Amino acid sequence: MRLILMGPPGAGKGTQATSVADHFGIPAISTGDIFRANVSQGTELGVEAKRFMDAGDYVPDEVTNKMVRNRIDEPDAKPGFLLDGYPRTTAQVEELDGMITFTGHKLDAAVVLTVDADELVARLLQRAQTEGRADDTEDVIRKRQDLYTEQTEPLIELYRARGILVEVDGMGTVDEVTARIFAALDIIPES
Ligand code: ADP
Repeated sequence: MRLILMGPPGAGKGTQATSVADHFGIPAISTGDIFRANVSQGTELGVEAKRFMDAGDYVPDEVTNKMVRNRIDEPDAKPGFLLDGYPRTTAQVEELDGMITFTGHKLDAAVVLTVDADELVARLLQRAQTEGRADDTEDVIRKRQDLYTEQTEPLIELYRARGILVEVDGMGTVDEVTARIFAALDIIPES
């Protein structure tokens, strides 16, 4: 099973990714989490990524693509994976296509979580208080939302055209959303 989970900042991708991945016995791979781990460990990648993340910009495609390629080459990702936060640009889509077809597989589904704009802002401001993420300030949140609209939202139509888009209502409790994702994915045959 090879899945991607999409949605604007605050849609609940990270929260849902783990339960969905556990259900299918595959790793949940969050590019945001990998970047943050590298930042806190002070690795070369972390130093490079930090200035983009703090500004709410996307980390350059070459850096992100290489990181994802290395991660999905790990043994635990051989049976499949769920990508949370990747791809976010058309260049990343092409790169991912190459990585997957190289192994003789296909992308099974692109799940997109849809959430009202007001609810997104409320969730991010709430998260700013509880988690203290450096990029959850008002200005940077706005920047991330704009980038999502410009660069990532168009990918929804791209995956719809391929016939693998699964749109899920991301409003409601965490459990309600999880149940909707499972219901929507059970109709997808495993590859
Ligand atoms: P959110 O979806 O709430 O913006 P993430 O935790 O998924 O947060 O990502 C945090 C930051 O990590 C992004 O703002 C960006 O700087 C960087 N990042 C994550 N994934 C990607 C990606 N696929 N391409 C480029 N940058 C990324």
